[in-house]
Amino acid sequence: MPHRRWNPLLREWVLVSPHRTQRPWLGQVASAAVTPQIEYDPACYLCPGNCRAGGFRNPAYTSTFVFDNDYAALLPDARHLEIDQGGLIVARGERGICRVVCFSPRHDLTIPRMKPEELRQVIDVWTDQYRELGALPWVRHVQIFENRGALMGASNPHPHCQIWANEELPNQPARELAAQREHQQAHGQCLLCKYLSMELESRERIVCENAGFVALVPYWAVWPFETMILSRRHTPSLPGLSDAERDDLAAILRGLTIRYDNLFTTSFPYSMGFHQQPTDGEPHPEWHFHAHYFPPLLRSATVQKFMVGYELLATPQRDITAETAAGHLRELSEVHYLDRT
Ligand SMILES: [Zn+2]
Ligand SMILES: [Zn+2]
Ligand SMILES: [Zn+2]
Repeated sequence: MPHRRWNPLLREWVLVSPHRTQRPWLGQVASAAVTPQIEYDPACYLCPGNCRAGGFRNPAYTSTFVFDNDYAALLPDARHLEIDQGGLIVARGERGICRVVCFSPRHDLTIPRMKPEELRQVIDVWTDQYRELGALPWVRHVQIFENRGALMGASNPHPHCQIWANEELPNQPARELAAQREHQQAHGQCLLCKYLSMELESRERIVCENAGFVALVPYWAVWPFETMILSRRHTPSLPGLSDAERDDLAAILRGLTIRYDNLFTTSFPYSMGFHQQPTDGEPHPEWHFHAHYFPPLLRSATVQKFMVGYELLATPQRDITAETAAGHLRELSEVHYLDRT
């Protein structure tokens, strides 16, 4: 039966219409993502030793490589700006720093294809970056995110992510902060600790898990194969993770993304990112470290979901239920399809 589900983090509804999965598909068919097959591409501006825009040359880096984005959306020295015309025409200046993190020198090495120890190195770099940028007195939020695949608008296939650090809390983290804080105040308990305990009891939407983390399809998921990764222990950010938990995080990122690639035997596109406590110098006992994955694929490597029509004008809607999606992902192997003999 069609029904609405509540997203307690963003405090909005999603419409679920399971009966619609039967409808014939006459929509756009995208071309399947192709994993780069070469370890080094002389034309790639992220490969070691190559030239980037503006005449910068990458060093001959041998592990994870971080640099300031040549086309940064935010600038650290943006001028002060304040516009307020009757509360309707309103603008503020916004300072920020945008960085790019190449996961490895290899042009073809996506996260699901990395060794656990290589991925652990990336997690250590993310942790250092979060700490370093968050320590700047004016930086209140650090967003680490990866856009994977041309379908998600990634401009370069070389596996990399971005880090945007800025002055004010962005929209989604601000909504999640308010929801987590109010839940903590009203119930004396963390929203995501409570939610995770309910999911671990029902087990209907769990995809995979290890000692430190659980990957699940949230009850309120909008995208067909949307997932969240939650730390089992209540901790607000990457620096709060123990050495063993960082290894567990590498293992679950790998396990989940291998399942994603195996789902439609393709290099699975997605946007993912971590939600960590604001770096505003305030204590944040309400904040629970987690990651979101928003993949666009719907029913094959070439059929994607579009957020259009009713979803843009009214409420997001999904066809397959979170439980069905979790079941599909759970049944998949954690051996990557390219590693099968
Ligand atoms: Zn490259
Ligand atoms: Zn918690
Ligand atoms: Zn979140």
